[in-house]
Amino acid sequence: LLLLSCWSAIEAEYVKYKDPKRPLNVRLDDLLSRMTLHEKLAQMAQIERKNATADVLEKYSIGSVLSEGGSTPAPQASAKAWVDMINEMQKAALSSRLGIPIIYGIDAVHGHNTVYNATIFPHNIGLGATRDPALVKKIGAATALEVRATGIPYTFAPCIAVCRDPRWGRCYESYSEDPTLVELMTEIIPGLQGDLPQNSLKGVPYVAGRTKVAACAKHYVGDGGTHLGINENNTITNFHGLLSVHMPPYYHAIIKGVSTVMVSYSSWNGKKMHANHYLLTDFLKNKLRFRFIISDYHGIDRITTPPGVNYTYSLQDAVLAGIDMIMIPYDDPQFFESFIELVDKKVIPISRIDDAVRRILRVKFSMGLFENPFGDYSLADEIGKQEHREIAREAVRKSLVLLKNGKTQGEPLLPLPKKAKKILVAGTHADNLGYQCGGWTIQWQGLSGNNLTKGTTLLEAVKQTVDPSIEVVYSENPDDNFLFSNEFSYAIVAVGEQPYAETMGDSRNLTIPEPGPSIINGVCSHVKCAVVLISGRPVVIEPYVEKMDALVAAWLPGTEGRGMTDVLFGDYGFMGKLPRTWFKSVDQLPMNVGDAHYDPLYPFGFGLTTEPVKANN
Ligand code: BGC
Repeated sequence: LLLLSCWSAIEAEYVKYKDPKRPLNVRLDDLLSRMTLHEKLAQMAQIERKNATADVLEKYSIGSVLSEGGSTPAPQASAKAWVDMINEMQKAALSSRLGIPIIYGIDAVHGHNTVYNATIFPHNIGLGATRDPALVKKIGAATALEVRATGIPYTFAPCIAVCRDPRWGRCYESYSEDPTLVELMTEIIPGLQGDLPQNSLKGVPYVAGRTKVAACAKHYVGDGGTHLGINENNTITNFHGLLSVHMPPYYHAIIKGVSTVMVSYSSWNGKKMHANHYLLTDFLKNKLRFRFIISDYHGIDRITTPPGVNYTYSLQDAVLAGIDMIMIPYDDPQFFESFIELVDKKVIPISRIDDAVRRILRVKFSMGLFENPFGDYSLADEIGKQEHREIAREAVRKSLVLLKNGKTQGEPLLPLPKKAKKILVAGTHADNLGYQCGGWTIQWQGLSGNNLTKGTTLLEAVKQTVDPSIEVVYSENPDDNFLFSNEFSYAIVAVGEQPYAETMGDSRNLTIPEPGPSIINGVCSHVKCAVVLISGRPVVIEPYVEKMDALVAAWLPGTEGRGMTDVLFGDYGFMGKLPRTWFKSVDQLPMNVGDAHYDPLYPFGFGLTTEPVKANN
């Protein structure tokens, strides 16, 4: 016993990095001085969960693990199963020679979207329409709690892309085409990570303890400006264009203490961002004083065209450019071999490795991972809890943009009365939770149907809202003859896009797929109709607007369908404003607010309002 207590005293004296009372730099220096080259390189690696066996984690002292698309444990797994999984990994990491904890990361991009029963908030484009930074901060805080409830301390969010072309498949991940609006929305960062302490240095990564998560501003930089809106393509603009359109949200993210920045797959004027020393090291790290840069998933392979031609060479380019942590997808098995070869040959100086590891460890130390490495089982009830769903519902009602209300010189249709004889709810998107949530929900590409998670569809929300005496008739099938009759008091028609993510969402024509247009044309010719458009971006709508009595852009609202009926039936007024320009035809694209020949269908910032109806029941 005596020996043991002597040993802990000696350990506290000499193993300084384990002592939370020591200054951060002392801990960093101490730990770094004990690490072998291999351990340092392993800190720079972020491997996929399916490769993160206890063996690998312990043997190599891997720095980080990510949840790749698709899920183990299954999406329906309980919070406990998630925490068990993360804690097993953490135990293995802590058994490594120096006991450095892993940092586990996941894409929680609109709530904790990989997990069954989590609150799914509107995708970023909808949040942009709310223009409400305080609300977005609350969303960040709720998301952080749900993510922590599964034992995870790190999310790859927010995406602060300034999407300049809606043909881009990631347009819905962008808050706006306008940098100023995106800047405002970086308020999600203190929501996720906690407010910077009063006297802390601005720009120092910061995570306030165990109910908060490290955030990641992505994808640096110019991801939303690619030519023709093609995903991962080339952003062609001069330095002024880059600084004035795509960079401003990063200044705000950094000032708010964002912990990490993810690099964009895209290129700037032909040079891959993953190999851009000037923008990563000279500008982001040295000028903006930013700390920890992570690659994107295939970012290293895709430095070359075609991808993966010479992994060693690409790795060299990326690390020398300034990338600190490298995501390693299944098809990059050469990481360690290539890396050791590069260091042995002195192509990458050890000083660059030390610098990267120091940046990574600094985040781990400062967020308390050494002291609190394990997931907390007591947070399980945070997932999908009522309070969070209320925040999501508020976000939905504030995100809805009313584009048309009443035919020319006619009466406005909205808000709808809760009493009527018989109403119709029609369309492919009226009773489809998967469509409401869009991409990055349970699965990377999103899902169709109502079983993916818990939530309320528009149809269910209508039934819960209207007077029980109303007969609500529903159909998504355009072949149902009764659809096209005038026996209804009014109709709500919900159509739009089907879920997609990343490149799969790139579109050349931005049309609403059939039977959407037929349903609009058919129903709206017979009965007064309010069209609710569920889409990740503006789509071609002009040919059908004439027929509609009302048109609402609902974006990808997520699980809380009641937010839509809150405003449709007048419990609250419409207040959302377009976060993007609504074009007439795709030939006009790209077209953004401030352009010389600006001729939109609905301009940036447009949105009609309604007054809430008193005692509307
Ligand atoms: C996406 C990132 C995402 C990463 C990890 C990439 O393909 O571009 O936004 O964070 O995968 O899932």
